[in-house]
Amino acid sequence: MEKKDIDWSGLGFGYVQTDKRFVANYKNGAWDEGTLTDDANIVMNECAGVLQYAQTCFEGLKAYTTEDGRTVCFRPDLNAERMFDTAKRLEMPPFPKDKFIDAVKQVVKANEAWVPPYGSGATLYLRPYMFGINPVIGVKPAEDYQFRIFATPVGPYFKGGAKPLTLCVSDFDRAAPHGTGHIKAGLNYAMSLHPIVEAHKAGYAENMYLDAATRTKVEETGGANFLFITKDNKVVTPKSNSILPSITRRSLMYVAKEYLGLEAEEREVHFDEVKDFAECGLCGTAAVISPVGKIVDHGKEICFPSGMEEMGPITKKLYDTLTGIQMGRIDAPEGWIVEI
Ligand SMILES: *Cc1c(COP(=O)(O)O)cnc(C)c1O
Repeated sequence: MEKKDIDWSGLGFGYVQTDKRFVANYKNGAWDEGTLTDDANIVMNECAGVLQYAQTCFEGLKAYTTEDGRTVCFRPDLNAERMFDTAKRLEMPPFPKDKFIDAVKQVVKANEAWVPPYGSGATLYLRPYMFGINPVIGVKPAEDYQFRIFATPVGPYFKGGAKPLTLCVSDFDRAAPHGTGHIKAGLNYAMSLHPIVEAHKAGYAENMYLDAATRTKVEETGGANFLFITKDNKVVTPKSNSILPSITRRSLMYVAKEYLGLEAEEREVHFDEVKDFAECGLCGTAAVISPVGKIVDHGKEICFPSGMEEMGPITKKLYDTLTGIQMGRIDAPEGWIVEI
């Protein structure tokens, strides 16, 4: 397969239109088979459910080239499952999980020339999404839906090393206790735009959101889960019903236990104890782990001992092991790497 002539390492995280995308339609109570198309545009009615009441959800995963030259995806079954759960919460017809994985494979195969080569640091980012497409004016779920997956090549997340981030504790809430924080709904992102623009204006990379009910417990950022490392090398991640279950975070917790022999626990994390951790990182598909060096709470700084120059040592081990598994340099647990 001849690859596109692109400066892969120079790519940012932006939309680049690729050759093919997958489209399936839900009509009269059933999903059709779906097909690949060249058409990157969607034409819909002015009153479409997604436009009026934001009935839309999405997923994000990557295809990439392993060290031995295979084109693979990382744990697409978990994306299929999470989108299934998200759809149910939004009163959308869940897209069948086996068809989701099949559609992922079709899109990657059809855009193989856009899958960046091993070693470039770039990947082919896949964006599955679904939305209500028929006219809806009275408030209710749409009747017809469209499911799509497009692919766009994205560059290495860390250009010139992973510099630790500075976060601020947000005065806004990301998710209500019995709301939609645990699902990948577009609406969670719409309401996070104002807080993130404000945080950026103030010079912070991300917001740390606390639990909306008591504002005493750590939740997550707008798009990544937290991992903390204790001074005695235990891996801790916050537990809450309003956190999005990150596939990267779940994989890292497994890697901590099964590959690195570390204790790893998911439990409530009080903001008060954050100052006592040795390392902090943010996890998600895009960066795997972004190190956090400093968290500012209304002028009061929490500086992690790992500093502002590089990832902490345990964070680095987690990062190296998971990326090693993803790239085929380290044996993967059964089912984690799906060949296209
Ligand atoms: C997608 C997402 C994450 C990261 O999940 P991954 O499956 O690891 O990519 C974390 N938090 C939120 C709010 C998200 O939407």
